[in-house]
Amino acid sequence: MLYMKKILLSLIMTILLSVNFFALNYQDLFDKYNITINFENKTDTWNMTTYEKLSESESEHFVTLVSKAFENYTKDVFEKISLKHIVLVKKLKFNNVLRAAVPDNYQKTLFLSINDSYADFYIVHYIIHEINHYIEYYFWKDYRYKWPQYEKLYFGESDGGENAYIDTSIDYYSYNPNLKGFLNRYSQMGEEEDRSEIIAYYFNTLNDEHINLINKCRQDDILREKAKLILNLYEKLGYKDLVKKFNQEVNK
Ligand SMILES: [Zn+2]
Repeated sequence: MLYMKKILLSLIMTILLSVNFFALNYQDLFDKYNITINFENKTDTWNMTTYEKLSESESEHFVTLVSKAFENYTKDVFEKISLKHIVLVKKLKFNNVLRAAVPDNYQKTLFLSINDSYADFYIVHYIIHEINHYIEYYFWKDYRYKWPQYEKLYFGESDGGENAYIDTSIDYYSYNPNLKGFLNRYSQMGEEEDRSEIIAYYFNTLNDEHINLINKCRQDDILREKAKLILNLYEKLGYKDLVKKFNQEVNK
């Protein structure tokens, strides 16, 4: 009986500790960035998203990866771009097509989703990618802005990234060192996708993404010029010397 009691007690302790750990993580994110995290009951502006609720352990893991991605931003940046809420879910669909994320600037909200096939590095990557869409909307009031300076360097398609979700037979996301001016096939789906991929590679240190970008920029002048334009745009959000640091790194 005493043995049973001990087991029960340690079980309760474990549950309490894990709940506490999760609460801490969650609270930490809020305190640091002033962003609320929701796990359900949020609808998007267009009423076109559907999703499933995460389990407790999935939520906890996801919050850890969000924290990792958020290390690249400050409270000031989020304040500037008016990002106030994130919604963490699984099996997110927009207009019935599976999506990793849906930015909804009208509600100051970003929907983010996990999927069984997503590796941790990819989740951190796509969070940075999606925040870029959100940031572009803040600057240009358009998710698919045709940026005149950027257009001169962009030789891809303009159909938009959603087509990649339809044809699943092509490898869109792997880094391709031989693609002139681009990091991967997905970058060629639209100039806004190209920019989101470049900044995600720049900020994400996991899976060698940052170093792959720098290495490629050493030989690929088009990619290098595009990266500089994006980093220059981020300097307008308060980032200091991004272009300078990038140049130093590329010329090393
Ligand atoms: Zn995108």
